[in-house]
Amino acid sequence: MELTVNKGLAWLKTINEKIQEKKDYLTDLDQAIGDGDHGINMARGFQEVEKKVEANDYADVSDLLKDAAMTLMSKVGGASGPLFGTAFLKLSMSLKEKDPVDYPSFSTAVGAAAEGIKQRGKAGQGEKTMVDVWVPMAEYLQNAQEFKPDELETKAKSAMEATKEISAKRGRAAYLGDRSIGHLDPGSVSSYYIFAALAETLQE
Ligand code: ADP
Ligand code: MG
Ligand code: MG
Repeated sequence: MELTVNKGLAWLKTINEKIQEKKDYLTDLDQAIGDGDHGINMARGFQEVEKKVEANDYADVSDLLKDAAMTLMSKVGGASGPLFGTAFLKLSMSLKEKDPVDYPSFSTAVGAAAEGIKQRGKAGQGEKTMVDVWVPMAEYLQNAQEFKPDELETKAKSAMEATKEISAKRGRAAYLGDRSIGHLDPGSVSSYYIFAALAETLQE
């Protein structure tokens, strides 16, 4: 694996494509157990990210991801903006001076991002939030010895799907308690798109 500025740009662009394509789906998911704005929040946020990064030149991947983080924090309303913003900021901080980014550095960076989300959201694993995708993905990346895009996508998908069976303890869905069982967590679905986009981008 080698994540360069150009690959990083392609990753962000692919995330945006997926989010725009699934905007209504994400909103439907949030309608069921939240306030029905997740698709709107994410679509606006990643559109702004694309606009921002296309207009700039970046010396390294860390710089690129920092701009993505800042944009998500400032442009996305709701809980998910600061949380995804934190994730990208932690990625950026962890990847400082590392260009191109290799697999061990990237795995470590995803670990830092997962930790950042947990702290920012005061959430643990099993509480039906995006933590349920980020933490298992960090563990998977750290345990796998090499980058396998298809396996990465499959792992992210099953982590996302597992949120359906559990009861929400954080975020708006927590108001529903056990009535949230049977519904996917919207933020975990978006997180899945982020990892699926990474797998796609680095496949070539
Ligand atoms: P809001 O809930 O403010 O309307 P969004 O709908 O955009 O924001 O995002 C909701 C998603 O954010 C949830 O599906 C969940 O994955 C995530 N989330 C909410 N609260 C937390 C938290 N405390 N910790 C981690 N993730 C959270
Ligand atoms: Mg919402
Ligand atoms: Mg909201």
